[in-house]
Amino acid sequence: MKNGKSKRLFDLAKKHIPGGVNSPVRAFKSVGLGPLFIQKAKGPFVWDVDGNKFIDFVGSWGPMLFGHAHPRIVKAVKRAATWGTSFGAPTELEIKMAERIKKLVPSIESVRMVNSGTEATMSAIRLARAFTRREKIVKFEGCYHGHGDSFLIKAGSGALTLGIPDSPGIPQGVVSNTLTATFNDLESVRALASTWKDQIAAVIVEPVVGNMGCIPPREGFLSGLRSLCDEQKIVLIFDEVMTGFRLAAGGAQELFGIKPDITTLGKIIGGGLPVGAYGGKKEIMSMVAPEGPMYQAGTLSGNPLAMAAGYEMLRMISEYRLLYKSLEAKGKILEEETVDLAKRNGFPVRFNRVGSMFTMFFTAGHVTDYSTAKTADTAKFAAYFRAMLEDGVYLAPSQFEAAFLSTSHSERLLERTLKSSKRALRHLFRA
Ligand SMILES: *Cc1c(COP(=O)(O)O)cnc(C)c1O
Repeated sequence: MKNGKSKRLFDLAKKHIPGGVNSPVRAFKSVGLGPLFIQKAKGPFVWDVDGNKFIDFVGSWGPMLFGHAHPRIVKAVKRAATWGTSFGAPTELEIKMAERIKKLVPSIESVRMVNSGTEATMSAIRLARAFTRREKIVKFEGCYHGHGDSFLIKAGSGALTLGIPDSPGIPQGVVSNTLTATFNDLESVRALASTWKDQIAAVIVEPVVGNMGCIPPREGFLSGLRSLCDEQKIVLIFDEVMTGFRLAAGGAQELFGIKPDITTLGKIIGGGLPVGAYGGKKEIMSMVAPEGPMYQAGTLSGNPLAMAAGYEMLRMISEYRLLYKSLEAKGKILEEETVDLAKRNGFPVRFNRVGSMFTMFFTAGHVTDYSTAKTADTAKFAAYFRAMLEDGVYLAPSQFEAAFLSTSHSERLLERTLKSSKRALRHLFRA
């Protein structure tokens, strides 16, 4: 694989940008390579600056539910741009966007648009604190909720990949207000709730984890959180920045039938433009300024280009009746064939999947939380990643990320991917 141009650009980028990238996991550090600089993308494919073409399973880390550069989204953005790129004043599309979100995610009765998932979760936590007049929050070890101070305690994803469990630069006061529990372990949350009785403002959780790799909730885990939060008057926040519109039109909360008090959204909701949102019960959302006293603002929030892309995305989701059935069927092909191969050959890999999001962990045991995710052999993953890349398959450059399917991944492309994957696995475990 030629990569001279990407290498040169990376060297140049490192002179001007910390680590040469504007978000750490892009750097390919944990897989022992430099990043590929991307030229363009279309449907399920990305092309790098050296002219290599890849089947893409990153999908910009989630947003590309219908593949890259979908003509309807491109058209919507172009049209909006000719009318002006930002006004800092309300537009009608923001109302239509809010209506559409509420319809798809019924636990949301009122919604505020922001510019990223990080902004959504930071605002949601402030809101929960304002509403409950309590300060502590509970998060789960290995869950990632963006880079807000409160969340960079035992954060998954990039921090986990780079071996940075907690970031420096976070005041002790903030650290002491973030309590961490074990995902899928209700008892660990109960213990915190009893130690810190009447002091916990919120429990925030990825209802299906994507950021330590894909980890589904155990039966009864989410409903147990719901009951506990009701008992203790704690605000339950589902961080659906990744799972929203990905697992169902109504997100993981629709799939598992649990209503959170606040939901945070991002990724798909922007159709590939920088958008986030937080919303929930009217009673709670009425705390948000200017209706209430909790301050949260954004010069570019509800940006017309971002709203145009996001609204078109949500319209496409509403119109495509069998969308999630079709994605499920595609995911199943990858899962079944991989599991079958692993079983027949005794390969120590675990395939975790919910719908169109999945992770193949290089470990023999079940992966249900942070400590079991950490049993994965990251050196094996790195070798697998490099073999796949060499074969034209672009995966997230970390063991602790989810892969995403889009409607543009045809069965033929999936078979082609499986062929590469099987070859890579055989090579890895026979060598
Ligand atoms: C990606 C992600 C975030 C952060 O969103 P950004 O847009 O990167 O700030 C927060 N929570 C979850 C669950 C995510 O997957």
